Amino acid sequence: MSTLRFKMVEEASKRKPVCTEAPAKLTSAYFGSHVFNREKMRMYLSEETMKVVTDSVDKGLPITRDIANHVASGMKRWAMDMGATHYTHWFHPLTDGTAEKHDSFVDYDGNGGVIEKFEGKLLAQQEPDASSFPSGGIRNTFEARGYTAWDPSSPAFIIGDTLCIPTVFISYTGEALDYKAPLLKALSAVDKAATAVCRYFDPSVKRVFSYLGWEQEYFLIDEGLYAARPDLVMTGRTLMGHDSAKNQQLEDHYFGSIPSRVMAYMRDIEFEAYKLGIPLKTRHNEVAPNQFEFAPIYAETNLAVDQNLLIMSVMKKVARRHNFRVLLHEKPFKGVNGSGKHNNWSLGTDTGVGLYSPGKTPAENLQFITFLVNTLMAVHKHNALLKASVMTAQNAHRLGANEAPPAIISCFLGSQVSAVLDKLEKASAEEAIVMDTKKGLSLGIAHIPEVLLDNTDRNRTSPFAFTGNRFEFRAVGSSANCASAMIALNAAVARQLKEFKKTVDTRIAAGEAVSSAIFHVLQDYIKQSKAIRFDGNGYSDEWKAEAARRGLDCETSAPLSFDAYLKPESVAMFADTKVFSEKELEARNEVKWEIYTKKIQIEARVLGDLAMNHIIPVASRYQSILLDNVYKIGKLYDKEKAEKLSAQDCAIIETIAGHISFIKVNTDAMVEARKKANHIEDERAKAVAYHDTVAPYLESIRYHIDKLELIVDDQMWTLPKYRELLFTR
Ligand code: ADP
Ligand code: MG
Repeated sequence: MSTLRFKMVEEASKRKPVCTEAPAKLTSAYFGSHVFNREKMRMYLSEETMKVVTDSVDKGLPITRDIANHVASGMKRWAMDMGATHYTHWFHPLTDGTAEKHDSFVDYDGNGGVIEKFEGKLLAQQEPDASSFPSGGIRNTFEARGYTAWDPSSPAFIIGDTLCIPTVFISYTGEALDYKAPLLKALSAVDKAATAVCRYFDPSVKRVFSYLGWEQEYFLIDEGLYAARPDLVMTGRTLMGHDSAKNQQLEDHYFGSIPSRVMAYMRDIEFEAYKLGIPLKTRHNEVAPNQFEFAPIYAETNLAVDQNLLIMSVMKKVARRHNFRVLLHEKPFKGVNGSGKHNNWSLGTDTGVGLYSPGKTPAENLQFITFLVNTLMAVHKHNALLKASVMTAQNAHRLGANEAPPAIISCFLGSQVSAVLDKLEKASAEEAIVMDTKKGLSLGIAHIPEVLLDNTDRNRTSPFAFTGNRFEFRAVGSSANCASAMIALNAAVARQLKEFKKTVDTRIAAGEAVSSAIFHVLQDYIKQSKAIRFDGNGYSDEWKAEAARRGLDCETSAPLSFDAYLKPESVAMFADTKVFSEKELEARNEVKWEIYTKKIQIEARVLGDLAMNHIIPVASRYQSILLDNVYKIGKLYDKEKAEKLSAQDCAIIETIAGHISFIKVNTDAMVEARKKANHIEDERAKAVAYHDTVAPYLESIRYHIDKLELIVDDQMWTLPKYRELLFTR
């Protein structure tokens, strides 16, 4: 019956690794070959233009239209030398992913022919007809045009025949319609605020950069099997499927030897990534079967975000060459781990000091403690917002399941750093800060080891963990645009550092010594932010109760968690850092609610369809075979014997009938719930209705489908099973 499924499995298991063009050269010989980086700028731009562009990147200075013309002309020559014929403004709309509209360089030359043309105005700005991008009502379809504007801080690159220019996407009235515009604002805010604080310690600091190293987890599924699973195709996750007998319980996949077909894929990705200047460093098997990870060397946050978006799109394209499909969904399979994207985040100065690295000098250590404690304060104040920044319909499956961080944001510091803070909390200023004539300022009370042994006390259950020289924000989802989390985090820290500076300055103005003022404010902060520190098991029920007592946000409903963006403290924080206006926050929440509703709506429709036209027909066909059997037994044997012989079949028939009836009744009820929710006008209320009244059916219906999968003849089951999806490669 289900010959298609078996054919797919057979084909998948026979597939050989696809060998693609192997780079004959060393990586360093072609790294960044497709990026308009400084090396290319030097070749294609005049010295003067080059200087303005690099100053713009390094010092955040503006670029004039005249200079943009020069850059455009150099960029075009480079792109054409590379064989490019088209260009596009590449931007991050509020859907996760990127958008691009390609235009050819070709234009009339005025003499009946055509020439390749690309002017500064085309580089600097474009007006895509963007009425179909989500905007949360900022821009109704009558004022459809937003515009994209060049971001010189992220270099242009070439994919295939197209020059891609990273841009921001804003409405005509100036509101951000994307992730990049607010990200750049948040990075600028944290730069300003952190630089001001750094100057207490080193007046020569001119800039502070935010750094991000993402760890991208993903699943690879054979494309034949993928195509035979409409739920994967339509929603990115399996809406049904019983656990396979073996999944990840033997812990034999994590860091195991990489399967050769997957290895060929990874090498191909690395080849593409290196051409695009993405410094992939780590590749390995993840915990779940067929789950893997890539991580690059960390980079400045704006660039790192672009590189992550780029690699996600490259991963999808390259997968097709290898007859794979890549799943970036946060929870494609029930019962095995989902995928996240740990955001390793830190701040560092233009003088080369990592602000979360315990220093070599005692003054650097006070600076380290200053940034650490202010970060704790920011995360404490905005824990609900940080959670909202990573919450989506997909990631909600992961947060709170016992595999990823819980849906409560807390900070893990490890025993060494915790001990330092505990000591500082109780110390007097005289004890803590010693003036050492040779070394200057000294943290007398707390000696901080220069190298923290981060690997010795790791805590995988913590959503926001200090790991020796950085924080690891682990709650970010695998398909997410990292910018969402990075906007919230950098803006919150910026605001906190500003407040810190203000409080310290007030004390200094009142006559207190700088180090003593810093110390007293930090001591106060250590006390205030205690509730966010938690080194224990984040999966335990005790922690959930304890976190609620501590006043941390424990909301698990995705649509309700978005409310955190509109709380007065969030609105004030975003206004003060100039990252978002209240109007923008409202509009973006509309988009979040709308996307949530649509995702659940699609899942409910797909599940309903599959239940009615795959599952029930197959189950009742099998049931009818059993009925036939029982009937024939009844014809052949006397009543007593027949009853005995057909007892098992009869039991299965009844079980099947029970499941079918549940599935049918609840699918109908789910349709009704959807209809009712669809009448709601308000986006928030609609999303809440989808969460509360539609989503629960996805689970309950699935339960009965999965039970049927266990009973129904394997030959008849049409959908590839977990053991096939997860173990064929
Ligand atoms: P893990 O042990 O957590 O799995 P990985 O080596 O897989 O770590 O990834 C760690 C990521 O953190 C890498 O992208 C790495 O470049 C990045 N990273 C290291 N140091 C910093 C830092 N100071 N700031 C930001 N990211 C960093
Ligand atoms: Mg890792």
